[in-house]
Amino acid sequence: MYVVGTPIGHLGELSARAIGALRAADLIACEDTRETARLARHLGLRGQLVAVHEHNERSGAERLIAALRDGRCVALVSDAGTPAVSDPGAKVVRAVQDAGFRVVPVSGPSAAVVALSASGLLDAQFRFVGFLPPKSSARRHALEALREQDCALVFYEAPHRIVECVADIAAVMQPERELVVARELTKLFEQIVRMPLSEASAWLQADANHQRGEFVLLLSGPPQQGEGLDAATLRTLELLLDEMPPSRAVKLAQAITGAPRKLLYAHAMACAGEAPADDDSLG
Ligand code: SAM
Repeated sequence: MYVVGTPIGHLGELSARAIGALRAADLIACEDTRETARLARHLGLRGQLVAVHEHNERSGAERLIAALRDGRCVALVSDAGTPAVSDPGAKVVRAVQDAGFRVVPVSGPSAAVVALSASGLLDAQFRFVGFLPPKSSARRHALEALREQDCALVFYEAPHRIVECVADIAAVMQPERELVVARELTKLFEQIVRMPLSEASAWLQADANHQRGEFVLLLSGPPQQGEGLDAATLRTLELLLDEMPPSRAVKLAQAITGAPRKLLYAHAMACAGEAPADDDSLG
């Protein structure tokens, strides 16, 4: 069975190998037959479209396995992008492998990786989170569990939840982090904007178009302890922290070293094992 990645927008993303696999298929398992019918028309596919979605993955898999036993060629696609990545497909792949058939990936785009490639984020590692819970309280809870992960985070989000999702990310995550909004990737109105997390909600509100389409959100990793401060500044601050409360230590360290107050404060809070509060609290 071929697992075929299909375009997330621009049809030119279909590889020659993907087209070959889809043309060879007698049976094409897809999420929504209407969606894949458009691709089938575009490519002139002859294979029969079979709906295999999250509600019938088990019975659908049985049907595909029966076809494979008959010596027929089977392909698996999702509506867009790579099957089994925030999409159905994983259970079908496993069932087909367990039945003794080979599963061959035919790589294509996945919105997360496409977004990462043009995000401008410098993190060496990322964690693919996919969709966060739809309700705000559960979403904040999930974000809190991710807050200290030492890597960039990649989220999928639907347009009707984008504003509240970004508000929750801004409420839970460290304000020094950068957010990249990648919308409508590979499509006519593609937009990839990197901004300080603290400015992201205002950016979304600034133009109704900013809230339209399909979204990947990427968040840079958390600030490292002492990030942006040289060794002499760190030593000065730490000596002062041993002698006085953090707000006073930060004030004096700023006067002595000239380093930015925000970075000094973040380091002071990290030393105290706390999250930085609103910068205004420094007085
Ligand atoms: N399996 C797919 C993949 O590999 O990209 C993802 C399927 S998931 C159900 C759909 C989500 O992917 C959308 O809600 C959006 O977050 C993201 N997505 C898909 N296409 C996109 C695009 N062209 N631009 C931005 N995000 C996209």
